[in-house]
Amino acid sequence: MPLYEYYCRECDGIFEYFRPMRDASLPAPCPQCHRDAERIMSSFTAFTMRDGYPRRIPDKGTYWHLEREVKTLATRMRHYEHPELAEPEVKPKPTKGELEEKAEQERVEKSEESYRKRWGVDKQGFPLPITVKKKAPKTIISPHGRAEVKD
Ligand SMILES: [Zn+2]
Repeated sequence: MPLYEYYCRECDGIFEYFRPMRDASLPAPCPQCHRDAERIMSSFTAFTMRDGYPRRIPDKGTYWHLEREVKTLATRMRHYEHPELAEPEVKPKPTKGELEEKAEQERVEKSEESYRKRWGVDKQGFPLPITVKKKAPKTIISPHGRAEVKD
């Protein structure tokens, strides 16, 4: 006879029970309280609902959230995400309008810059100071022995 696993909700306990295969899906009497216990299906009864929350059998004190194991209950739902599983918040994507505005601003800045370069003016439209190479002053020694500086 094959061995089957059963779970007693009253005792919160798991027990094994030998029985014929044809009776496997029938409830088995709990060895402690003798109430009917459900068979644990290895694949899809890996956890049960208790206190309104899915709990793993045997209970490890963890919770299940959207098929992921977590240590604490989700107290605050953000888009149904558990805080332990939630990914760090990402910056909101700029809207199409914001992107267009930025592109326009860059375009204007670029054209203004090329204009200023072309005409040699600053941002206020004033001509930029033109740097002229100053000639080195000539020093002439006068007949009187005095040094005179001439431009
Ligand atoms: Zn029991």
